[in-house]
Amino acid sequence: MGEPKLRLQGVSQVYEGARGETCALENMNIDVASGEAIAILGPSGCGKSTSLLVAAGLRMPTSGAAFVDGQPVEGPRLNTALILQDFGLLPWKTAAENAGLGLQVRRVPKRDRVARVADALAKVGLADFANAYPAELSGGMRQRLAMARALTCDADLLLMDEPLSALDALLREEMQDMLKRTWREQGYAQVLVTHSIEEAVYLGQRIVVMSPRPGRVTHVVDNFEMLREDWRDDALFFDRCRALREMLRCVASGQSERGEARHA
Ligand code: ADP
Ligand code: MG
Repeated sequence: MGEPKLRLQGVSQVYEGARGETCALENMNIDVASGEAIAILGPSGCGKSTSLLVAAGLRMPTSGAAFVDGQPVEGPRLNTALILQDFGLLPWKTAAENAGLGLQVRRVPKRDRVARVADALAKVGLADFANAYPAELSGGMRQRLAMARALTCDADLLLMDEPLSALDALLREEMQDMLKRTWREQGYAQVLVTHSIEEAVYLGQRIVVMSPRPGRVTHVVDNFEMLREDWRDDALFFDRCRALREMLRCVASGQSERGEARHA
């Protein structure tokens, strides 16, 4: 087994707030192999976004560390892409300009940017919308634009923080298909944070279940069958969702590993 693409090792995060300290994450450990798709599933407030910020190099944890290709993550990295819930699109910039933002902040020269942006927009089916503004695009098109921005950076690690939660149910399934297809075509390692059980089972080869705050990993569920055709209609898909629902219920009520240092 080679070195993992991403490793979170003993990551803990304590936030200082007006009302004292919040322990958001407690000894979080995960390994993501190159090309692997992981889903992180956990209740709101359990530190999912914090884990992604640490993995992206946007936050140094209170203790522990993130490693990419064995190197400690000390800041943003060229080939790590991060897609946030609101997509981070700038309304006053065109689709092409928005898609090129990741390259721009990484100081890639303009003539390289133009070619890479055109290529990425074509990959997500937005070639004809290069000059449109975000307000002129549908929700699904904005989602694809956020994906195009990630693709311009030749990402080998794609981190996504509940990217689909603002979409209606049908569009959400369509975008899940798009995320799965792009991941299979591009071969990057992917970490999807979600509170949707179905989304985790559809998109994660392994599903990491987190406890309520302070968040830590309580279960890792193998879900390699997600590569099957028509997985959403597979009997095993429903079984796995049911099993995870039960697991989350136990974790939420503190039945799993009760007595472990929840207040430490
Ligand atoms: P999740 O994404 O799972 O909902 P977060 O990582 O956003 O969880 O937050 C975990 C906990 O840390 C929450 O209780 C949240 O209120 C708190 N928190 C997150 N960011 C900050 C911050 N910058 N300052 C203070 N508290 C924070
Ligand atoms: Mg969050």
